[in-house]
Amino acid sequence: MSNSEIFTQLATYDHEQVVFCNDNSTGLKAIIAIHNTVLGPGLGGTRVWNYGSEAEALNDVLRLSRGMTYKAAISGLNLGGAKAVIIGDASKVKTEALMRKFGRFVENLNGKYITAEDVNTTTRDMEYVHMETSHVVGLPESMGGGGDPSPVTAYGVYMGMKASAKHVWGTDSLAGKKVAVQGVGKVGGHLLEMLHKEGAKLVISDINEATLKHYASTLGASVVNGDEIYSQDVDIFAPCALGAILNDEHIPMLKAKVVAGAANNQLADENIHGPMLIERGITYAPDFLINAGGLINVYQEHIGYNRETAYRKAEHIFDVTSEILKISSNEKIHTQKAAMNLAEKRISDIGKMRSTY
Ligand code: NAD
Repeated sequence: MSNSEIFTQLATYDHEQVVFCNDNSTGLKAIIAIHNTVLGPGLGGTRVWNYGSEAEALNDVLRLSRGMTYKAAISGLNLGGAKAVIIGDASKVKTEALMRKFGRFVENLNGKYITAEDVNTTTRDMEYVHMETSHVVGLPESMGGGGDPSPVTAYGVYMGMKASAKHVWGTDSLAGKKVAVQGVGKVGGHLLEMLHKEGAKLVISDINEATLKHYASTLGASVVNGDEIYSQDVDIFAPCALGAILNDEHIPMLKAKVVAGAANNQLADENIHGPMLIERGITYAPDFLINAGGLINVYQEHIGYNRETAYRKAEHIFDVTSEILKISSNEKIHTQKAAMNLAEKRISDIGKMRSTY
C-alpha cells in the first residue's frame, strides 16, 4: 500500500491521527487510530485479531474508531473516538512484554488516546497496559475500575427497547411482549433477566448449548436453532451476538415490529438496510446509541467511578432513543441516519463553542 492510499483513507473518514506501532523484540504490530477529539480524548478498546493483511487491519481500525466518535457524541459524553488493533493470533502474540510495550505507545500519546478491553483482550491485559500508562480504563473493581461493563450495556439496551416500544405501541411496558434474543452471552443474559422480570415472553438462540439450557430452565425461555430466530412470531428482535445480521436475507424474514439489541454494526449496509427496515414498518433502535452503556461505564471510570451514576446516564438512553425515533418519523429519514445527524450536530456545536479562548 502506498502512502497516498493511506492518506486517502484517512481523508475519507476524516481521521485526525493514526499511529503505527512496531517493536521487534516483543513482536508488537499495532495501529492506533484517533478519529476525532473535538469532544474530548479518543476512547476505544484494543482488539487483537489475526488480520488477513495489513490493509484489512487498517480498514478495521479506521471504521471502528469512527464508530466510537458517534457513540460517544450521541451519549452526551465528553469523549472523542479512537480504537487500536494489535495484529496477530491472540493465543500466540499476547505476552506481558507485548501488552506493556503497547502501553508505552499509548503513554506517548499523552492522554489523547485512552484504551480499554475489546475483542481478544481482557482485564488482565489492561492491567499490563496500566503498568506503563494511566490512560487505560476497563480495570477490575479491585483496582478502582468499573469491572464488567455488560450489565450497564444490557440496561441501556433495555432502555432503548422500552423507548422503541413506547414509540410503536404507545406504552413502554414490555409485559406480555414476545422478545427474541439472538446470543445470550454477557449482555444478552443480563437483558433476559430484565425482560423476564418485567413479564416479557422470551425466545432465545445461541451456539452455546449450556447457556441455552440455563435460560430455558431458569427463565422459561423457548429455544430455537440458528436462523430460525429471525422468523419468530415476536414483537421485538434483540440481536446480541453478531454484526451485519440486518441484511437482504434476514430483514424479509423478520416479523418483529421493533429491532433493539446490543450487537455492534447490525446493519450490513446502513444506506440500504436502514431504509429497508423503515419500508417494512420495522422500528430500529440504532445499535451505537442503545449499546453505549459499556462506554458510559468506562467513561465514569475515567472521571472517577461511580456505578450509580453510570446506571443513571445509561437510563438517559431512553430519552435519546425517543428523540431519534421522533426525528426519524418527522424528517422521513432512517433511524441510524437520524442518530448520526444528531451526533454530528453535537460535535459541530461543541467545536464552535470552543472556538474562542
Ligand atoms: P458474549 O461473547 O458474552 O456473548 C455473545 C453470545 O453470542 C455468546 O453466548 C455466543 O455463544 C453467542 N453467539 C455467537 N455466535 C452466535 C450465533 N451465530 N447465533 C447465536 N448466538 C451466537 O458477548 P457480549 O459481551 O454479550 O456482547 C454481545 C454483543 O454486544 C457483541 O456484538 C458485542 O460487540 C456487543 N457489545 C457488547 C458490550 C459489552 O459491554 N459487553 C458493549 C457494546 C456492544
